[in-house]
Amino acid sequence: MPDVAYLNGRFMPLAEATVSVEDRGFQFGDGVYEVIRTYRGQPFELEAHLARLERSAKALELPQPYSHSQWTHYVLEGIKRAAYPEAKIYLQITRGPAPRDHAFPENATTTVVMTIREFHALNEEIKGIGVSAIVIDDIRWGRCDIKSVNLLANVLARQQAKQAGVFETILVKDGHVTEGAVSNVMAVKGGAVVTAPEGPLILSGVTRAVVLELARKDGIPVQERAIPQADLFSVDEVLLTGTTVEVVGVVKVDGKAIGTGRPGPITQRLATLLKRVTG
Ligand code: PLP
Repeated sequence: MPDVAYLNGRFMPLAEATVSVEDRGFQFGDGVYEVIRTYRGQPFELEAHLARLERSAKALELPQPYSHSQWTHYVLEGIKRAAYPEAKIYLQITRGPAPRDHAFPENATTTVVMTIREFHALNEEIKGIGVSAIVIDDIRWGRCDIKSVNLLANVLARQQAKQAGVFETILVKDGHVTEGAVSNVMAVKGGAVVTAPEGPLILSGVTRAVVLELARKDGIPVQERAIPQADLFSVDEVLLTGTTVEVVGVVKVDGKAIGTGRPGPITQRLATLLKRVTG
């Protein structure tokens, strides 16, 4: 059964899964989500994704529909039903359907959705060459650590990237790089990996955490501090991390070459280290 959906306790073909027009996810973006991918059929870092889903839900005072072990059961069941070589699993919890009123409804029941689609990894050839990015103002709200379905600023940023013919937008707030529209941003300067610290200005990426740990274990110094926008063109390397991009070098920003204009040695090393743990 391709493209599987799970909706409020039931698996079904994705095309059959529908929710109320009064769902608060639809009307207010009042919900949270996760995107997980598989490697050789197994969800990568599922516990970390579930922990972040729980943190996001807690921050919005959304009731937890399931324990981690229940989620794990449904995720594995969904992967099995979809039977793709590799799958992209999308989890979403919203505050559910209720007559439209901004404040929380008294008796809403959360809407729980999971979709499973085939995952297509970023082409190895593209990774070898590296990708381009543009820099734009980070106009998002003050709680980017919550993985909320309220993604308008990210949607607009991705559209700008598309129109500019580049892979990603690098977001800048108060003169410092926060992250990408769908990825975390790291720079390499003097052999050290530099990336914005965890906090309300960025999403604490699951891949970010894995990559930083791999770097430290490999003896690569890590500095969790904001990268000044002005330094973007004097650093040796820029790279992105994320579930869908893994590790990819950024070789051009706003049309100007970064470093040698090719993915640098630390980027390549981090990509290799990640590949070792993902298989
Ligand atoms: N930052 C943003 C804004 C994202 O949307 C994502 C992933 O979707 C990431 C960072 C990377 O997070 P992860 O590594 O958990 O996929």
